[in-house]
Amino acid sequence: MKNFALAGNPNCGKTTLFNALTGSTAHVGNWPGVTVDKKEGVYKKLEENVNVVDLPGIYSLSPYTPEEVVARNYILDEKPDCVINIIDATNLERNLYLTTQIMEIDVPMVIALNMMDAVEKAGDKIDAKDLEARLGLPVIPISALRSEGIHELMERAYESAKTPRAGVTVLEESAIKHLVWDVKIALSAQKVENPVFHAVKLVEEDELEVEAHKDILHMVDEFKSTFDDEIFGTDFESLIADGRYKYITKNFSPALKRKNKNPLRMTTSDKVDRVLTHKIWGIPIFLAILFAMFHLTFSENFLGIGTLFSLPTLDEIGVGEGIGRDLLACVYDGVIYSPGVILFNLMDLLTATLSGWISGGVMSLGASDWVMGFVSDGVLAGISGVLSFVPQIVFLLLLLSILEDTGYMARVAFILDRICRKFGVSGRAFIPMIMGFGCSVPAMINTRTLADEKEKVMTIRAIPFFTCGAKVPVLTGVAGAIAMFFNTGNADIITYSMYVLGLVVAVVTIIAMHSTTQRGEITPFIMELPAYHLPSGRALMIHLWDKVKHYVKKVFTIILASTIVIWFLSNFSWAFWNGLVAIEDSILASLGKLLQPIFTPLGFGSQLGGLGWMFVVAAITGLIAKENVIATFAALSAVLGSVVASESGVTEIALIIAKTGITIPGLLAFIVFNMTTIPCFASVATAKGELGRRVWWTILFWMVTSMCSGAVVYAFATMFTEWSTWSILVSVLFVIVAVLSVVLVRRYNKLHPKKR
Ligand code: GDP
Ligand code: MG
Repeated sequence: MKNFALAGNPNCGKTTLFNALTGSTAHVGNWPGVTVDKKEGVYKKLEENVNVVDLPGIYSLSPYTPEEVVARNYILDEKPDCVINIIDATNLERNLYLTTQIMEIDVPMVIALNMMDAVEKAGDKIDAKDLEARLGLPVIPISALRSEGIHELMERAYESAKTPRAGVTVLEESAIKHLVWDVKIALSAQKVENPVFHAVKLVEEDELEVEAHKDILHMVDEFKSTFDDEIFGTDFESLIADGRYKYITKNFSPALKRKNKNPLRMTTSDKVDRVLTHKIWGIPIFLAILFAMFHLTFSENFLGIGTLFSLPTLDEIGVGEGIGRDLLACVYDGVIYSPGVILFNLMDLLTATLSGWISGGVMSLGASDWVMGFVSDGVLAGISGVLSFVPQIVFLLLLLSILEDTGYMARVAFILDRICRKFGVSGRAFIPMIMGFGCSVPAMINTRTLADEKEKVMTIRAIPFFTCGAKVPVLTGVAGAIAMFFNTGNADIITYSMYVLGLVVAVVTIIAMHSTTQRGEITPFIMELPAYHLPSGRALMIHLWDKVKHYVKKVFTIILASTIVIWFLSNFSWAFWNGLVAIEDSILASLGKLLQPIFTPLGFGSQLGGLGWMFVVAAITGLIAKENVIATFAALSAVLGSVVASESGVTEIALIIAKTGITIPGLLAFIVFNMTTIPCFASVATAKGELGRRVWWTILFWMVTSMCSGAVVYAFATMFTEWSTWSILVSVLFVIVAVLSVVLVRRYNKLHPKKR
């Protein structure tokens, strides 16, 4: 089977093209030895099937990043039958820089002039035929986003793959033309493959090249010594880069015909950017967008309508019982719910109804109490509790994907770069972090785009502090229960402030890591800001389905299994042959009680006595998957006594609050612990893949961070509710430790200044 490789700059549309070409045949792996994604798939619409490889996005073929090394070695060693060089036509000149390098390799090559839709929309024109004539390579205008021109592209590539092509260099007109040419002739005489490419790289003193061709170095140096360095200097790398740019400017600038000749002309995208990336307003606007996003997803009082106007509840209107009322109550009951909450309510109604039917069915079969308990409390309670959240989480993910696909997230990284830098990471690290709001697994994989190892470690550690979709139920459930049981506070406000607290923990720990174990220079942040565009519905759906699939699969495997185990552990004692026991005597209770003292500084440990271990158990099961926390509460409350289930686990948790006597500070600390502790199994496994053995330190880091932040929140919150010696002691201790560590780190850094 013929093998085609897609090569191009980051963000030029490689992945979009790859997906359009290969569809469902695509699969992802790793390049040997490095954590860079390797994507392969098959294009089936030619006379024979063709294998397509999506190379990592690169700006050049120099060996500075793992991506560059992977792409370069693939083209040189695997010798694809054709390289499809994708160019972002809206950034023609910059993209052609890589083209001039690939051209030097002896490999058939075609150019996919992508984003032609955007060029046309701006009213600009690119003469592809003219480009083709000047480059001497096939140039095919396409739009990967709209799947336009891609079949023609593949046909031309297939055609080109039939004849070998010798490398050519555009440097022939530049000052070092003779030097390169002499080296090339020497290499050809030695029968070296790709002599043009290697000649240029040798002159450039490229690390890998110098290593591989030690035998002819002396000759290169000899040639170089005859070089007129009086005029040109001897920084060959910049001389060559310069030669490429001169060539590109001279030959290709005329190919792009701008509609408006004025170079200062602003596109719509630029105008939007004047506002969205404004020096002062950029950040407040971003925070407002973030707030709006969470408000749309979580608010029980949408737009404050229930507060602004006093509207009658359904009871006051006198709506009768029945399915009609149930449906109405999903949308309105004295307050209008936000779209996310409406989705939640509808799904909750559905799962509650289905569970009711299933347990009714089992009961009518004359099942014993034992079986009934197992079915309704062990299986249904946990699963439906978690499934109810699926539509709401999908909604949040949809909003996030829209921000990402329109190009706004790239801007956010850009505006936050200046601030992030103060804390010790570049703005680039912000993209994986913000992806953490969706799910830590893809977020951690995304850290592969970070060139710096230390930055990568810090980012992976901070990602779980960005509250992911699976933690949402814990947050809204406990916040709702606080508001309901204590009849104080607003659940929305608790939810938002916990999100913000997660961000604060991320910032504080990054500063701490950056000034201790992860000291170093912060790499400069260069990023192309793609023009804004409407997200494509298809791409959005692929994105979403990927995530939902993952979540639903988890519900029916790991979460189902955990709820069943929890049910058994909470209904049987160590002497399980004696049959069902009261929950206080269960295995779970004895395990929980064993661990309970550890959580005393967080307010849900020994001070709760009696049933206090329930919070401990919920937190521990959460280490498998965060959805388990709510599923555990549901199962435990079902064993505790009859409670009107539903409403995001709020009533269940309220029952447990009543039975344990936990305080508000304890509950807040409980939320904080769950939000900042070791994330789910899947994330830990991903972190292990990215960090290797360092993952153990990372796990320890998460554990310590969550214990500390939980204890601090508990101590400070207690000061507001009730003065106790304990809270004062911990708070004072915390301030002393904080001040002391800042002083110590400063001193240390002064004694051991950073080395480059
Ligand atoms: P990669 O980094 O090279 O893999 O680039 P992606 O495929 O991720 O694309 C980067 C961005 O460009 C995404 O937001 C795409 O939706 C967008 N994009 C890709 N192809 C086109 C196109 O033909 N037209 C337009 N307008 N946008 C495109
Ligand atoms: Mg890509």
